[in-house]
Amino acid sequence: MDQQTDQSRLKVTVSPPSSNAASARDALVDPFGRTVSYLRVSVTDRCDFRCVYCMAENMTFLPKSEVLSLEELERVCGAFIDRGVKKIRLTGGEPLVRRDILTLIRALGAKVKSGALEELTLTTNGSQLSRFAEDLAEAGVKRINVSIDTLDADKFLEITRWGKLDKVLDGVRAAQAAGLRIKINAVALKGVNEHEIPGMIEWAHGEGMDMTLIETMPLGDIDGDRTDQYLPLSLVRRQLEDRWTLQDTDYNTGGPARYVTIPETGGRLGFITPLTHNFCESCNRVRLTCTGTLFMCLGQEDAADLRSAVRASASDDLLHQTIDEAIGRKPKGHDFVIDRRQSKPALSRHMSVTGG
Ligand code: SAM
Ligand code: SF4
Repeated sequence: MDQQTDQSRLKVTVSPPSSNAASARDALVDPFGRTVSYLRVSVTDRCDFRCVYCMAENMTFLPKSEVLSLEELERVCGAFIDRGVKKIRLTGGEPLVRRDILTLIRALGAKVKSGALEELTLTTNGSQLSRFAEDLAEAGVKRINVSIDTLDADKFLEITRWGKLDKVLDGVRAAQAAGLRIKINAVALKGVNEHEIPGMIEWAHGEGMDMTLIETMPLGDIDGDRTDQYLPLSLVRRQLEDRWTLQDTDYNTGGPARYVTIPETGGRLGFITPLTHNFCESCNRVRLTCTGTLFMCLGQEDAADLRSAVRASASDDLLHQTIDEAIGRKPKGHDFVIDRRQSKPALSRHMSVTGG
């Protein structure tokens, strides 16, 4: 990118030192007119599971020095909130395995309570939920996503390699008891949980939880061939339509899922189909990794280094300037392909880095 384009994109308004300095900063609007209002933050690349579609069994995790401290993460999130971000989702790796994560959750929860942020949510594998459910609710979290791909304990162990289904289901019950609304996320895997999908939908809806099905995305090297796992949701949808009425809705949680309601089961079902359907035109989100790298698109390599900006100065001006430059480069869309001739992933980073 040439210098001039760069300069013309810098729309940094330096705030006056007033109590509502935040409102003096411009909203984040990308070159295609999309306003960025949703930040997903991967708070750690570490996880206590090793799901087959997400990680290899032997992962090398990042050294601590490269990972933003919780205070630094709070500062970056605060800068995005100043720029009009209304929804933050914490993810990972597994967000609840990061030490002292409640400190960050409480700080961001306070922004929800003050009205600066509309929603703070998280995506979790549920392994630590029994322990955290009440604290999350108290901190201001109202909704969480829990990833469960199967209700068969043996298969659960096979998929997650290290996970125990019972513990996760205890966590789900604890979260329900704490008053958290839960959505179950399940990755559709050919020949693995394919035949269980209707049963899982009945279970989730019976428990008053929405459910979202996700297509596998070609992110990161895993021990295996992804084309074996790929199950197009268009096929799943057709099979579900043979069984139930799927009524399209315009319900939207700010994320990429398209929802239907199923009168027979009394719940909502979402489809996240990055490979068979392009959802980029309404994209309102960016992703921050635990190293402070900002990805403007899940499916593109281009990124901005917010860690250097945070560490270079105690003032947030450089941080805002770097965010502005990054949003000025947000691409129109992604180009994921699962290529049968080539078993390499479309992108080398794992989902646990950008956080799904
Ligand atoms: N550890 C947490 C969890 O599993 O919910 C949060 C991080 S995980 C990366 C977020 C979501 O991404 C999960 O629902 C997971 O199933 C999904 N995911 C991971 N790798 C994926 C892939 N290659 N394709 C599609 N979804 C994937
Ligand atoms: Fe961990 Fe979530 Fe990836 Fe599974 S999907 S390995 S739980 S980060």
